[in-house]
Order: sequence, then structure tokens, then C-alpha cells
Amino acid sequence: MSASECIFCRIASGEIPADVVYRDDDVVAFRDTNPQAPTHVLVIPRRHVPSAHELDDAALTAALFAAMQRIADDQGLGDGYRVVTNVGPAAGQSVPHLHFHLLGGRTLGWPPG
Ligand code: 5GP
Ligand code: ZN
Repeated sequence: MSASECIFCRIASGEIPADVVYRDDDVVAFRDTNPQAPTHVLVIPRRHVPSAHELDDAALTAALFAAMQRIADDQGLGDGYRVVTNVGPAAGQSVPHLHFHLLGGRTLGWPPG
């Protein structure tokens, strides 16, 4: 998939608007348009990685988790939050660009569906 075809590549480049809450050289995070919790942020690498199954860059992995820690602090999620990434169709991945869902602001049930 080319960057021009990938909606999250287009959000990362600024071509498509999003409610961005965090950005650095490697990572962009923005609010989900269909939020499942009071805070529902999608945290993505700027470069196209299809899913967590293809994530093989240790520095990028660290950057993504550092961003999530910072966003959780910024969003006031000290009581707890959840990080979820769906991999492939059976898990419900609907956008084929790696994204971590960062969910918080309410009590979250377990197990997920
Ligand atoms: P998945 O189902 O792949 O795990 O998660 C994809 C998420 O992306 C969904 O929660 C969906 O609401 C969100 N999403 C899809 N398209 C857009 C978009 O154009 N902008 C934003 N902000 N979120 C989107
Ligand atoms: Zn992409």
C-alpha cells in the first residue's frame, strides 16, 4: 500500500486533518473519530508499518511507548488506562497502518470481545 492510499499515512503527513494530541519526529497521536472511552487516542508511527506483527524497529517501538506514557500523563489517566493493538482481520484491524488504541477515563471491562 502506498502512502497516498493509506489514511493514517495521510493523517501523519497532515494531508487529512485530525485532532492531534501529540507529535514528534517518529510518532503522531490523534483522537479516534469513534471514541470507545472518554479518552481514546490512536498512536501511530509516521512511517508505514502494517501492524504490530511487522514492527521490528526497537527504537521506533521505544518511541511509540514513550509517547503513550507521555500522552497518558497529559490526559490525566493516572487511575489507569489500556493500550490495545488489533492485528489482522480476525482481531478487528480495520486500518492497515500500525496503531495503538490508548483508552481511559472510565472503568474498562475485561476480557475484551
Ligand atoms: P482498528 O479497528 O483498525 O483497530 O482501529 C481503527 C480505528 O481508527 C477505529 O477505532 C476508527 O474509529 C478509527 N478511524 C478510522 N478512520 C479514522 C479517521 O479518518 N480519523 C480518525 N481520527 N480515526 C479514524
Ligand atoms: Zn500508512
